[in-house]
Amino acid sequence: MYKPPYLLLTPGPLTTSPSVKETMLNDFCTWDDDYNQTIVQTIRQTLVALATKAQGYTSVLLQGSGTYCVEAVLQSFVGTEDKLLIINNGAYGERIAKMCDYMGINALSLTYSENQIPSLDDIEACFTNDKQITHLICVHCETTSGILNPIKDICTLAKAHNKITLIDAMSSFGGMPMDMDEWHIDVLISSANKCLQGVPGFGFVLCKTSLITSATHSRSLSLDLHAQWQAMHTTGKWRFTSPTHTVRAFLQALIELEEEGGISLRYERYKHNQALLSDGMQALGFKSLVSPSNQSAFITSFAYPTEDFDFKPFYHSLKQEGFIIYPGKLTDTACFRIGNIGEIYPHDIERLLASIKKVQAHDNP
Ligand SMILES: *Cc1c(COP(=O)(O)O)cnc(C)c1O
Repeated sequence: MYKPPYLLLTPGPLTTSPSVKETMLNDFCTWDDDYNQTIVQTIRQTLVALATKAQGYTSVLLQGSGTYCVEAVLQSFVGTEDKLLIINNGAYGERIAKMCDYMGINALSLTYSENQIPSLDDIEACFTNDKQITHLICVHCETTSGILNPIKDICTLAKAHNKITLIDAMSSFGGMPMDMDEWHIDVLISSANKCLQGVPGFGFVLCKTSLITSATHSRSLSLDLHAQWQAMHTTGKWRFTSPTHTVRAFLQALIELEEEGGISLRYERYKHNQALLSDGMQALGFKSLVSPSNQSAFITSFAYPTEDFDFKPFYHSLKQEGFIIYPGKLTDTACFRIGNIGEIYPHDIERLLASIKKVQAHDNP
């Protein structure tokens, strides 16, 4: 069987199982029932079941990467008369603000530093001071730093003020237990190639069926989620060419999630990976940048250990050892990131730590 030259310790695309990769050896026809009814509709129903125990929710899949889905949500759910409050503590929150600029969406950003959790009091003050606000959007795990935002509390507060809540759960959905209905999330966005461990090529949006039927605001044809949902909800058909190999691989990835024991057991594995990683890195002299109470189980940012630390040779040496890590993305701190989601197990983290120790010893004899 094909063995990849290295493990991806990145927040997506990530390391997938050999059996997920293997499913892509078949071609599928986009208007045949084997594809639409059997594969696409099973995926849509499974996603809803993973998102909530409540009734009345639906899912829609969209070609492209996760960013396309975020933009499609803004296009489709936020109208010209509406106003969006953006909770921003990282690059993905910042990207949402940029999308709003492009689209001319009336938006207000509540901005924090990248290792800071948004304050509920600040959010409530925004609602009180600005009665025009109709929607709120927040990133769950800000992959920029690895911080986990308290979206259950944020959405509960937003609902108490009658706002529509949009959540970018790109790098968390499928990797930790959450229930959209209990957490008051109206619209949740994620993608195939993160914690659900599929390959890249499409994202998806989960929401109340009653919301999608009126989400008719899109000023873009290809990003119109209402139209995509209308085509998909009866026949399973995508409006334009669907990424068939990616979709087939995703079905296999969902089966493997169930075989692992579902989201709660996957979360245990990720938590175990992350704890081993941060403890092991600390012992090697690398400090995590997010405080342990706010740290997600998915990706961790580490400060450069010394001022003259050179990331490039470090990266290349680890690649030789069979591991791909990720550059940093924080605006004011030199750092790099290591993801521990995907087909990654504690023994992989142990091997990574041994390799980092070896590389460090070689570079600092
Ligand atoms: C990965 C990710 C996205 C989408 O990024 P793409 O490169 O477009 O897939 C959006 N938000 C968050 C928090 C992410 O981690």
